[in-house]
Amino acid sequence: MDLPANEVRRIWWMAGLRLAAWLLAAALFGLVFDHVTLALLIALAIYTSGHLIFAYQLHRWLAQPRVEPREGVGVWQDIYTELYRLKQRNRRRKKRLKSIVGEFQASTAALPDGAVVIDGRGRIVWFNNAAAALLALRAGQDNGQRIVNLVRHPRFAEFLASADQVGAPLEVPSPANDTDTLSLRIVPYGNSQRLLVARDISEQKRLESTRRDFVANASHELRTPLTVLRGYLEMMTEESDDAGALAAWRTPIREMDVQSARMGRIIESLLRLARLESEGLAQAQETIDMPALIQRLVADFRKSDEGRHQIDVDVQPGLSLFGRPAEIESVVSNLVANALRYTPTGGHVVVRWRGGHGAAQLAVSDDGPGIATEHLPRLTERFYRIDSGRSSSDGGTGLGLAIVKHSLEHHEAELHIDSELGHGSTFRCVFPHQRLVGANAA
Ligand code: ADP
Repeated sequence: MDLPANEVRRIWWMAGLRLAAWLLAAALFGLVFDHVTLALLIALAIYTSGHLIFAYQLHRWLAQPRVEPREGVGVWQDIYTELYRLKQRNRRRKKRLKSIVGEFQASTAALPDGAVVIDGRGRIVWFNNAAAALLALRAGQDNGQRIVNLVRHPRFAEFLASADQVGAPLEVPSPANDTDTLSLRIVPYGNSQRLLVARDISEQKRLESTRRDFVANASHELRTPLTVLRGYLEMMTEESDDAGALAAWRTPIREMDVQSARMGRIIESLLRLARLESEGLAQAQETIDMPALIQRLVADFRKSDEGRHQIDVDVQPGLSLFGRPAEIESVVSNLVANALRYTPTGGHVVVRWRGGHGAAQLAVSDDGPGIATEHLPRLTERFYRIDSGRSSSDGGTGLGLAIVKHSLEHHEAELHIDSELGHGSTFRCVFPHQRLVGANAA
């Protein structure tokens, strides 16, 4: 416990009084022998020497803490006691810190995720056991090495340089085993230091791939029986239209026909999504004449829309896109189909394709009912529909925007949705400049 201030004051008062008494005694002694000044000088010399001896002892003890401090006198005793107490307290604190650091290291070593501390110059400062196993780091030898020399993935250096703030993780094959996949995250902290967290997501990847294969296989298997059913239903619809034996079944047969057509569209969309996920990036790319593609698709839509909406096109002539034609076509078709589906008759739809500011934008706007803000972040989820009854009855599958998002990801493009209830919607696809070809492409 700390010494209270008044106690310190009292000790120093006592020391002062003791000095005064000592000097008074020396003066009296000097008076007796008629040498007051000499007596005072000798008394001061003795007093100072005493303090020098204690100061020397203190210095020696501070320099060699293992030597036990000698007993002091007066104020020196208190100084010794206080210093001794301070030292003991520091020793206890050091011990506690050591045990906390020990516990921290033991717990981080036991973490299933790899953790690597990297300094401002990209050198490894510390890593745990999991990091050693996942990233093939060698304890002792790799400390102080540049992490980019050890994790040799083409995108890793760029990822490390750009990760000034916590961003999306990077998925890379494990340097320890190519068949495993790691998810890497960078967490900046302190003075330009970074923590690299590596997680083994191989199992998750395998499950995702199994799920994808399952959906693709199930959709594929359902396709043939559904085609047979649809064939018979078509025949039965014709039969029921004539006043034949099935006339009484006309309404249910029509409904079955409509629902089976819807099932067919869902299966086709699921298969398209599965293809996008599995082989999307392998598809051939070419320069796509966007103005021509948009004009062609809009002409088809105008025909099928039969004048219910006004559809306008505003495209920048000569601005082409380098990409996968089937995917880009599905982006345009899905967005225009949605705009027509959700905008009431008499509404206005505009398809724009323009470049500028180092990017190009495909925008499909409508003056339909708009979308409430809370739905916007979820629209691209599979089967997410705001009004499922409305979507289904109008031929929607709930998969259109999921297909759009996937196709855009394959072109490093982003989907932005600007919409407000009652004020229509605009779906904007922003393509990076390296994808653009032709007029004012930059
Ligand atoms: P769907 O096949 O149901 O249209 P999508 O994935 O294409 O599925 O769209 C998801 C949902 O987003 C739709 O069900 C609809 O509620 C909403 N939506 C999409 N486009 C528009 C639009 N232009 N205006 C209003 N709502 C829209």
